[in-house]
This record gives sequence, structure tokens and C-alpha cells, in this order.
Amino acid sequence: MKSLLNIAGMWLVLPALWLSFACTNKSDTVIAANPVLDRDLRNIDSDDNANTDEADDLASLPAAFSHFSDEVEVYRDGDWVVIQSTGIPDHASPYFGNGDSRYEAYNGSNAAFRLNPNSIAEQQFTLRIPLAPSKAASHQATPLGTIGLAVNGVAIFNQYAGPDQPLTNEINSFDQYNGHPQRTGVYHYHIEPLALTAARGRDALIGFLLDGFPVYGPEENGVEVSNADLDEFHGHFGPTADYPDGIYHYHITDEDPYINGSGFYGEPGSISH
Ligand SMILES: [Zn+2]
Ligand SMILES: [Zn+2]
Repeated sequence: MKSLLNIAGMWLVLPALWLSFACTNKSDTVIAANPVLDRDLRNIDSDDNANTDEADDLASLPAAFSHFSDEVEVYRDGDWVVIQSTGIPDHASPYFGNGDSRYEAYNGSNAAFRLNPNSIAEQQFTLRIPLAPSKAASHQATPLGTIGLAVNGVAIFNQYAGPDQPLTNEINSFDQYNGHPQRTGVYHYHIEPLALTAARGRDALIGFLLDGFPVYGPEENGVEVSNADLDEFHGHFGPTADYPDGIYHYHITDEDPYINGSGFYGEPGSISH
């Protein structure tokens, strides 16, 4: 009997509470409701992609795109491959900062190493690169900043520290995996990403540049590739494990310009972040 009374009481009190809340906080309630609604809609979108669209899209992509790590989202959109990444490396770095579980003090071989003042920050990269890349009629110079993405989602930069400035001094701030962050926290590789070549092999696919052409490591068929083996864009045409019929591809070498030479071989897509 007592509990019945309580339940009956609740039914009287609760609507009254709700009414008073709704009246006195009407504007707050409306403002608060919209972000929640937006977030729910976004979740529904991304879940759809993960379960159905993305699987379809991955199936229609060249097999080479399966090399991207799970943290990187890759899907097809018409004639484009869309690649989304936070840009956070999947390996340790002194640039994560002390106290971060991913922090690892410098233990590389460069006696002149000095930490730059920046630290790694999460990005929202969306790259759109051609699904079927082809040689450009006129070759665009690569910009400073992100010119491609490694298979672990990390940005690839060109061979300059600034406008026409070689990497000479900047190299001393590369961590033990050959990456470092710039001022806004974009962690990036200008030269061989040592964590990737160690884990996947020195002849492995390392990433893609914005023009849709793949980047391979510094070895091919067990032989070290040198700049002399490559054209002015730092690539050549030939078969690879992922493209047995042959494709134009860049190679990383251990001397300047390291990953890319005098601009993009193909027409670059776009990047937003
Ligand atoms: Zn840099
Ligand atoms: Zn090659």
C-alpha cells in the first residue's frame, strides 16, 4: 500500500517537475537539444559508412589501399579515393610529451638531435586523390605542408624546410622514426619513415601522394634504389607487388630529395584539414 502511494505520488510529482523545467529553462533546453541531435545524425552517417558503403567502396578500390592501417578511413567516391586520418603516428615519439603513454625519449643515432618546441596534435585530414592517376600535362610543384599520406595516416612533406630551404638543419629535429611536428602539431615525414620500413619491409608500399601515385620504400627486388634510378619527380614506371601490371611510383631514397623531386608526376587532388 505504501509503495503504491509512492508510485502514485511520483506520477503526480514528475510531470510537475518536467513542466517547471520545461518552462523555466525553455531556451536552454532548445539550445542543448540541437548539438545532441547533430551528433546523433553524424553517428548514424558514420555507422552506415562503416557497415555498408565503406565495405562496398573498399571492395572497388585497388588492393594497394588495403595497406592503410585500421585507424585510417579509406573509401571510394566516384573517381576519387577519399582518405581520412587524424595524423597521429602509430608509433612512439619524444614529441608526444612527457607523461603521455606514447612518449619515448630520443634514442636515435643523431648526436646533433635537438627537440623542436612543437608537440603532436590531432588533425582532421581529408585527402581526395585520383582513383586512376595519370601523368599530368604540366607538373605542379609540391607545396609546403602535406603532399601525401603514409599508410599509418601520418603526413608526408616535401624536401624543403621552408621556401627553397633544404632540410639540413631541420633533420636534427627528426625523432628516432624520422618524423617531427610543425608549429600546429602536424607530425610528418620528409624522409624514410623508419617505423614503417622496419615493420613492413624496406620495399613496402609506404603511402600515396596527392596525385594518387604510390610511394615505395628504398629497396626494390632486394636492391637499394638510388636517385640515379629515378626521374626528376623521384619515380619510375614498373611492376610492384600491388600493381603487377606496372604503375608509375615514387621511391624513398637516402639522399635529397628523399621522397619527391621536382613536383607531382600526376595531377594532385585536394586536401582539407
Ligand atoms: Zn618538417
Ligand atoms: Zn620502383
